[in-house]
Amino acid sequence: MHQIPINLSWHRIPKNSTDVKPYNTKTRNCQQIQYSKNSKSVKLSKETRKANAAIAGLGKSKRILLSDTLLRNYSDDEIKAVFAHELAHVCLRHAWKILVFGALISLISFCLAYVSFNKSLDFFGFKQVYDIAAFPLLALILLLIGLVFIPLQNGFLRYLEKQADMFALSHTRNKESFISALKKLGRQNLSDPAPGKLVRILFYTHPSISERICYASKENEKHP
Ligand SMILES: [Zn+2]
Repeated sequence: MHQIPINLSWHRIPKNSTDVKPYNTKTRNCQQIQYSKNSKSVKLSKETRKANAAIAGLGKSKRILLSDTLLRNYSDDEIKAVFAHELAHVCLRHAWKILVFGALISLISFCLAYVSFNKSLDFFGFKQVYDIAAFPLLALILLLIGLVFIPLQNGFLRYLEKQADMFALSHTRNKESFISALKKLGRQNLSDPAPGKLVRILFYTHPSISERICYASKENEKHP
């Protein structure tokens, strides 16, 4: 698979900042934000084919990463909109919420799997839980539980993504740039702008491009 390398440098901002000004246009060919009080270490070189932005790390290692494919091809205001979205994930502590939610889902899933597996052993003629022949039954139970909980988990992630979008819109007050950045990202990353409802519920961790554009337009109407 051919991949385009991206280079990242760093720019430091206050830990709990909700200000998007720390974005530095002078270093737009490469950018990384490090949320560390004591460290100015530089992290370099990730690889992607697509324009992308992400949060990496927890605690002092927390960073916002913007790919150079994004920094090269997007306007300053579009980059600022993407940056503000990622900053929202940090300020709203989304990483911790996802960890706690994921841990709860895992705990409930394994409890359900334990009870269901034990109760169904006799019915399928197995004597012990460690009977290797019963492993496909366990796999089937885990699959069925996953079919219930994965959409729930994805729904929670979509909720957090919408929160981050709203944060970005309220701090940048520039819906045109937010929407044009979304359209560019959708085209560059070959995203389906308006997938079917079932596909969204089952597989999407983000609201679709058309949904995001729709609520972005309405949100900025409230804050002209
Ligand atoms: Zn996000």
